[in-house]
Amino acid sequence: MAPRRRSAQLGRDSDSENIAIVGSADGYQIGPRGKRFIDFTAGWCVGNFGWNSRGIRAALRDFRGPAYVFPEYRYADWDELAALLGDLAPSNLRRCFRATGGSEAVDLALQAAMVHTGRRKFISIEDAYHGNTIGALSVGSGDRDTLRNLMSNCHRIKPPLTRRSAGGVETLLKRRDVAAIIMEPISMNLGVMVPEAAFFTRVAALCARYGTLFIADEVATGFGRTGKLFAVEHFNLKPDIMCLAKAITGGHGAMGAMMTNAAVGRSMQERGHFYSTYGWHPMSVAAALATLRPLRRGRRRFLTHVNALSALFATQLAAIRFQQKPQIRIRGLAIALDFASQREASRIVKRAAELGLLLTSQDKTILLLPPLTISKSLAAEGLSMLRTCA
Ligand code: PMP
Repeated sequence: MAPRRRSAQLGRDSDSENIAIVGSADGYQIGPRGKRFIDFTAGWCVGNFGWNSRGIRAALRDFRGPAYVFPEYRYADWDELAALLGDLAPSNLRRCFRATGGSEAVDLALQAAMVHTGRRKFISIEDAYHGNTIGALSVGSGDRDTLRNLMSNCHRIKPPLTRRSAGGVETLLKRRDVAAIIMEPISMNLGVMVPEAAFFTRVAALCARYGTLFIADEVATGFGRTGKLFAVEHFNLKPDIMCLAKAITGGHGAMGAMMTNAAVGRSMQERGHFYSTYGWHPMSVAAALATLRPLRRGRRRFLTHVNALSALFATQLAAIRFQQKPQIRIRGLAIALDFASQREASRIVKRAAELGLLLTSQDKTILLLPPLTISKSLAAEGLSMLRTCA
């Protein structure tokens, strides 16, 4: 008898949570039989504008554009999107490169830094995450040794990031062989880790002195998550390169973008390789335009809301009597609760899901990343569920 053929299975990065999702709306994810979960995860900084936004859905439903555009042709919506991103981003970032997601945007950034400087070395932050391509893994977390060794030209700085640790950066930059420093300006992947402002002041001056570029990975922090449109704005930083993805389409299409200043953009254009078959697919571009046009119009009101909700979360979280009191870090609606043990963090995440509240955790840290458009009443309802499992 021929052996029975097993059906193929989805590869997974970690054990799946036992939560099935069949729909989404506003601040909710919806499970089978209509079970509604209040979503304090927002797909990890993807659903910043709430799920199933009517405007984005309508733009996709009514889309009459081309099925596909060959990257060597012209497409007016690409130009509009590049201009729109330029309007939103810090003023020095004037060139946009198309990508399919965050990892590809990071890879392009590493390439651009090498092409522009002619150097091969990088500096990143210990245990950071920048994506899953070999390039991104090479500047990422230290726990994936075999992979990162494929490009082991990266020195990792240990947090905390202070004026003093910036001194250590100078020792490395003096050799004038470091192409770029890459980091999240506020690290979501390290549990809302906020460097000292003096770290950036010093690092920016050192980069300028030694010809090293600064790459801001804003894949997770971009589009309002930390209470500013981009986290670099907290520090008045002018990165040479910025990486975007996640919330750029509000979750309605795959997309990434790498933005550079004029000089780096020119080098990349002359000597880089960045053909991307599905980069900025017309449907994704339609979703991005429908996401970002209203953001450009209403950015002030939007950020006021994020910061008001941030204050609400701060007050209410401080008032919760947790069995194990966590350390709380909050910037905008990027919120980390650091517990004494991983067990406690996992217990709360599991219990919250049973009650109908979605949270995410990494080791001992629970992250709260609600949609930035969440209403006060839904935020209060979720916080009340959290109180029940504290
Ligand atoms: N950079 C950062 C800071 C991220 O958080 C992520 C994804 N979590 C990436 C890059 C990679 O993005 P993507 O999963 O879209 O490839």
